[in-house]
Amino acid sequence: NWGEIRQGLKKKVGHNNYVTWIEPLRFEALESGVMTFTVQSNFMGNWVDRYFREAILGEAGAHGLDVSRLRFVVRKAADDPATHDDQPQPHAPVAAAPGRPRKVAAAPKGVRPVTASDSIRLDTNQTFDTFVVGKPNELAHAAARRVADGGEVSFNPLFLYGGVGLGKTHLMHAIAWELQARDPSTKVLYISAEVFMHRFVQALREKDMIGFKELFRSVDVLMVDDIKFIAGKDSTQEEFFHTFNALVDQKKQIVLSADSAPGDIDGLEKRIVSRLNSGLVIDIHPTSYELRLGILQRKFDLFAKQFPGAYIADGVMEFLALRITQNVRELEGAMTRLFAHSSFLGREVDVPMAHEFLHDLLKEADRKVTIDEIQRTVADHYMIRMSDLLGHKRNRVYARPRQVAMYLSKGLTNRSLPEIGRKFNGRDHTTIMYGVRRVEDLMAQDATLAEDVELLRRALTT
Ligand code: ADP
Ligand code: MG
Repeated sequence: NWGEIRQGLKKKVGHNNYVTWIEPLRFEALESGVMTFTVQSNFMGNWVDRYFREAILGEAGAHGLDVSRLRFVVRKAADDPATHDDQPQPHAPVAAAPGRPRKVAAAPKGVRPVTASDSIRLDTNQTFDTFVVGKPNELAHAAARRVADGGEVSFNPLFLYGGVGLGKTHLMHAIAWELQARDPSTKVLYISAEVFMHRFVQALREKDMIGFKELFRSVDVLMVDDIKFIAGKDSTQEEFFHTFNALVDQKKQIVLSADSAPGDIDGLEKRIVSRLNSGLVIDIHPTSYELRLGILQRKFDLFAKQFPGAYIADGVMEFLALRITQNVRELEGAMTRLFAHSSFLGREVDVPMAHEFLHDLLKEADRKVTIDEIQRTVADHYMIRMSDLLGHKRNRVYARPRQVAMYLSKGLTNRSLPEIGRKFNGRDHTTIMYGVRRVEDLMAQDATLAEDVELLRRALTT
């Protein structure tokens, strides 16, 4: 039963997490693999689902229960319980106009139909106003702006690509909002490629291709997110290609996103690639430290409102911007966690506490640095050749950088000493250990070395 599972979870997630997140959950039911809880807020449900789902499912499994999904029902005073699905952002067609529900085909099985009110709740934050512009995304932003201005189509499609969590979906939503605000009669359809495929398959099954074509060919602006998803799915690609051509012929704007350039998407048909390349292809670059800090600062007030009583010390935002570098979503997640902890614990969060609360995220961020990257960066920094860095010359000019590289490899990756040794020309793990210790000792006495190491660490983790 839930009581026993809960006890197991206590050990798994630690006391603080347990008291804050697990204890307040009210178990409601277990039906066909879905475990339902009542929670006080949507935020709470999201949070538990995101960070403790694995633990809960695992613990339930250990008690012989077959649970595949968690469901959270928010109990609001004087309100119908609103459900929260385990998909915080359903990628289903969004009727972008506030209060103007768009007629869409019935949702395929397993995909929750999205109503206009959902889209308002989910998307209001993703506008141009909330998008922070910096060097890495300024071109993408400018192009999105151009599309959002409406008027004559000057490039088609607009193809935005870049790593996960760099703002592609945000920009697409921003375009939708803006177009809708300028002219509420504009028909904007935003859909993920995955849902596009579901709809297509459903139309085939229900023999309603006419309805399908009508829906997609009657829009003024079509935005398809994460198009990698249709790569390799032949008939879906085929249909997508026809939809695409039909809209281009009618001079209707198309906006697409993916995580790599058209030519680098495996399984995407050549003729589609060439069509995509004939439009405007823009790369959203990884964030810079400045951009991350800008985003954090912009979000700070929002979070402060959301978590009354939370207090975040100076330097914490800089710490986040320095250490969480891969993905803006993770950055937001980290911020949420810190504000939530501060609010629930009723304590100010400073840098050491942030370190502790974000342990898992930081470890993950660090894991992305490779030993090769460390070696190259160190060699560059000291202006020596890689062969000398890895070689056996004992002159301090080479030996010191070599030890620094060993030290950073130990600190920034989670490779074992023998693994690191192999990367250093097959050295023994005791040699690596000696190098690491040596740098530790020297840093305590030699401020210049300590500074060098810190600079390198920043260069590698930013
Ligand atoms: P992608 O679609 O590229 O994977 P998203 O658009 O979903 O990424 O962005 C992930 C999260 O980060 C979203 O919450 C988004 O609002 C936020 N975000 C990304 N880039 C920015 C930015 N430049 N300014 C403000 N928020 C951003
Ligand atoms: Mg996205």
